Parts: sequence; structure tokens; C-alpha cells
Amino acid sequence: MTRFNAWNVIKNGLNDQTGWDRQWRDPEPKKEYEIVIVGGGIHGLATSYYLAKNFNIKNIAVLEKGWIGGGNAGRNTTIIRSNYMMPGSHQFYEHSLKLWENLSHDLNYNVMFSQRAHVSLFHSPPARDVAARRYNIMKLHGTDAELWDINKLKKNIPYLNYHNARFPILGAAVQNRAGNARHDAVVWGYARAADQLGVDILQNCEVTNILRTNSNIDGLETTRGIIKAKKIGFAVAGNTSRLWEMTGLGNLPIESHKLQAFVTESIKPLIDQVIVYGVGGAHFYISQSDKGSLVFGGDLDWYKSYAQRGNLPIVQDCAEAAMAILPCLGRIRIVRHWAGVCDMSMDGTFFICNTPIKNLFLNAGWNYGGFKAGPASGWYFADLIANEQPNQIIKNHNLERFEKGINLDERGAGPDPKLHG
Ligand SMILES: Cc1cc2nc3c(=O)[nH]c(=O)nc-3n(C[C@H](O)[C@H](O)[C@H](O)COP(=O)(O)OP(=O)(O)OC[C@H]3O[C@@H](n4cnc5c(N)ncnc54)[C@H](O)[C@@H]3O)c2cc1C
Repeated sequence: MTRFNAWNVIKNGLNDQTGWDRQWRDPEPKKEYEIVIVGGGIHGLATSYYLAKNFNIKNIAVLEKGWIGGGNAGRNTTIIRSNYMMPGSHQFYEHSLKLWENLSHDLNYNVMFSQRAHVSLFHSPPARDVAARRYNIMKLHGTDAELWDINKLKKNIPYLNYHNARFPILGAAVQNRAGNARHDAVVWGYARAADQLGVDILQNCEVTNILRTNSNIDGLETTRGIIKAKKIGFAVAGNTSRLWEMTGLGNLPIESHKLQAFVTESIKPLIDQVIVYGVGGAHFYISQSDKGSLVFGGDLDWYKSYAQRGNLPIVQDCAEAAMAILPCLGRIRIVRHWAGVCDMSMDGTFFICNTPIKNLFLNAGWNYGGFKAGPASGWYFADLIANEQPNQIIKNHNLERFEKGINLDERGAGPDPKLHG
């Protein structure tokens, strides 16, 4: 594999770009692997990479029903942050952010991680107090966190609707190390790096049935034949319940909801941060891509579905939310929108855990927020699969938390997936 470095870029520039190798192989499936990960999104690919890199396991495959990154990994609005408060969550997301900070070097692939700050607006004194509590706790844990008063906010982001907003803007909670990355690049970077370590990435390989004896999965029926494995990991995001049904294990505390993203025509540089707000039923987040498009999103579509497309009420909802805070966008044109299927858990928190089947491991429940979690998710899921027991940091992120009533409800929104982000 040709490495990306200044010398190779110059050499290939003079060479008609003929000296680059394929980015990853297209192998035929083997009959058996040590470990099979189902799902070629950021979580599945990162898991395979850290299994190979951190545990030196050679015989691994990632099975993807379509093309890698065709699911949520390539459909999200790319916001990366670690502004979490609950024990377990803040260590996990901070670890993820630290991995992001070195990811381009680690993968030898430019994932275009841009630490441009995540600015979360507040609109009332109680909302400011809630933000202050969370951001002070983050500081106590060593995570960067700031509160901006209205003057600092106006200085940094002068074009918000300060004069005429239905919900007046009072300030913002800010994480400066947060930002965006290019989602395709992250998928390709992990795929390339995993492939280099010997991982077989099998695209167009859908798992259609699971061959199970009582306490073990013996093999997976796929559209490319039966594939056996000693250990199996599910990392299929919005399709988790479908795969789970094939195991015969009953129901999961997960619902599949769709979330839309929107992209506008390109404009000159305007939005230099990720701006977020949620008040009065509206929920809105926006940033500007390197190509100049504004990328934004809002709430779920409010009904369960496996369709990767959204409906018009949310288009209107997001447009209204945009206009409430950024009326300067009134005449901009939306050129694309799509939806991804999110695996919404009942407390808004993820699962990286063992399952009732000894050789099956689960990675799911990422809600709106699994892109930023990708690196740490891969790291801890690999650790779980290799050691067969969870690391201390994720030990409460299991299925039993619902039986025991110890949910990890970061937002305190209760057992309603629609209310969790
Ligand atoms: C519109 C939108 C905006 C979002 N914005 C953000 C954001 O700003 N920040 C953030 O942190 N998170 C965000 N998210 C959430 C984030 O994208 C997801 O939580 C995360 O990508 C899910 O993990 P994944 O990448 O592994 O999933 P996916 O990319 O969905 O990967 C799962 C893969 O499994 C494959 N699969 C499914 N069934 C099978 C099968 N039977 N056999 C083989 N393969 C199968 C699918 O084809 C898919 O490629 C957003 C999500 C959406 C939809």
C-alpha cells in the first residue's frame, strides 16, 4: 500500500497519479474467520482496525450488506464533541475525542477533522444553569468547557437573530475542541488501515440468517455463502433489531427511527463553528462544510421506520428552526436531503456488551450521536471481543441496565427514544 506522504504526493504529481495502489482489497470470503464483524459503518470498521492493531488478531472480516459507509456513517452531519456528564459517558466520549485528534496520523489518511468549536445556545436563566452544571462537571473531569455571555457570543457569531428572536439568546455553552470531520474519509481511512492489517472487507455481503446452537452462533448465512466465525460482533446501527431477531433472543430496548440531514448550495465562509440550539420544541444544529455548503439537521421524523428517506414535515420543521436563529439564510437553497436509520435506545445511551449468546457481542444504541463515538466505540468493542469482558469504562453500557433500573439517561428525557438525542 502506498503511504500518503509529501514525497509520494510529489512523485505521483509528476507521474500522472499512476503510482497509487488500490485503497483496500476486494477479497473473496473465506469459509471461516477468527472474528466476524457485521456492519461496515464507522463502528464496525473501527472495531476491526483496533482488533488487528491493538490485539494483533489476523483473521478478521467485516461483512457489509451494501457498500461501506452506505449507512449512517456516510449520512450524518459529522458533529464531534465530548460534552457529556454522566459517569462512563464523559470518559468514553473524551477518549473518543482524543482518538479523533490523532486519527489522521494514526490511519495515514486525512479525515479532515476540524476543531472549530461546538456552540450550544441557551435561551433562559434555567437553561443557562443547566448548561453551567454540565460544563462545570466537564471541567472537573479535565475536558475543555466554557460559558459565553451574550457579549462574547455576539463578538464571535455576530449574525444570529439577537434582536427579534421568539426565544431570546442569552449566551452559549462552548466546547472549543469539538468540531467536524469528513464522514466518508473516516470510513475510507479505517477501511484502508484495517485492510493493511489483513482485515477482509466484504461488501455486498448481507447476513440473511444466523445458524445457532443453544449457547453459540456457529455461522452466518450471507448473500456470499455461509461464513463461520469463533466470535461475532454486531455493529449494524439502525438494523440491530433485524439482526437480533435472527438470533432468536427476543426484543431489544431499541427502536429504529429516521433522522434527516440537509445540505444547501455553497456560499462564502459564514459559519465558523458548529451552532446548536434546542428550545420551544425546536432542535437545530448547523455547520459549514469545506465546500461551502451549510449542513444541518433537527429532530427525528417522529415515527419508526427502516426507510433511508425522510418526509416533508421535518423539512419544514428544520427550515423554521433555521429561520428562528439565522434569518440571514432565508433565501438559501437546499440542494440535497436524506435520512439515516438511527438505533434509538430507551435511555439515549449506547450498548457495548456481551449477550446471552457466548460468542456474540453487541455494539448498538447510538441514537443521534454515534459518529463522534466511532473511534472509542471501535476501541472498546475490540477490547470486549478480544477479552470477552467489558473494560471498566463501558461496564454499565449493557442490556441488563434496564432489568435493574439503572439506566444511563444522560439528558434525563425518560424512556422515550424520540426525546433522546
Ligand atoms: C442524518 C443523521 C445525522 C447524524 N448526525 C450525527 C452527528 O452530527 N454526530 C454524531 O456523532 N452522530 C450523528 N449521527 C449518528 C451516527 O451517524 C450514527 O450513530 C453512526 O454512524 C452509527 O454507527 P455506524 O456508522 O457503524 O452505522 P452505519 O453506517 O449505519 O453502519 C451499519 C452498517 O451495517 C450494515 N448492515 C445492516 N444490516 C446488515 C446485514 N444484515 N448484513 C450486513 N450488513 C448489514 C448497513 O448497511 C450499514 O452500512 C447522525 C445520524 C444521521 C442519520
